[in-house]
Amino acid sequence: MTSIEHNLHQVRERIAAAAVRCGRAPEEITLLAVSKTKPASAVAEAVAAGQRAFGENYVQEGVEKIAALMTEGDLQWHFIGPLQSNKSRLVAEHFAWCHTVDRLRIAQRLNDQRPAHLPPLNVLIQVNISDENSKSGIMLEAVPALAAAIAALPRLSLRGLMAIPAPEQDYARQLAVCQQMASAFHALQRDYPAIDTLSLGMSDDMEAAIAAGSTMVRIGTALFGARDYARPSQQ
Ligand SMILES: *Cc1c(COP(=O)(O)O)cnc(C)c1O
Repeated sequence: MTSIEHNLHQVRERIAAAAVRCGRAPEEITLLAVSKTKPASAVAEAVAAGQRAFGENYVQEGVEKIAALMTEGDLQWHFIGPLQSNKSRLVAEHFAWCHTVDRLRIAQRLNDQRPAHLPPLNVLIQVNISDENSKSGIMLEAVPALAAAIAALPRLSLRGLMAIPAPEQDYARQLAVCQQMASAFHALQRDYPAIDTLSLGMSDDMEAAIAAGSTMVRIGTALFGARDYARPSQQ
């Protein structure tokens, strides 16, 4: 067994244990493997171990990996990094999901640039739930207006919300932030029944996120090991 395969089993077990502890079915939670800064060979190892959904933060790096892994079968690629307008076309053309929509202008560009032969791009609205230093994401109060605008765009499919809470070691505090996201998610679901995705939880807070109601955890370090940001493929 390779170490990535081993890690994948362990992460799946963590997800299942966290789900069972709060009375949820493990299948309600999708594991998104965050492969940013990792080579295509690492993704291929995860694919061999049964993983299908991958998240990338850097547009160019992601597009290169998508091309390199074309022959690996039907993988699902999620863009989860900050999105600049001048990179939106590549996201619209190559990814199945974008988790980081936080303004109407970028939503409109993704809508206009989504190729006609592809299904609508699945999008999540990124909420700035607790990180005052982050420039990404909108305040909770702004979610209903942006959701209404996105719901009117035919080439986008609004699937839910995403957040990157500020790092926090204390479980109770992690849970409190995750619960705020969950109640915003449930409120949105009442207006848009097709909404089914709360993208919340990383290597260090996935248990709290699952207890609060996350449906998709984004896991990098616990699967692929620590990242080396000195690698030249960054942009
Ligand atoms: C890097 C990253 C992750 C993965 O974080 P880990 O702590 O390595 O699991 C998840 N979500 C986003 C948006 C990221 O940028």
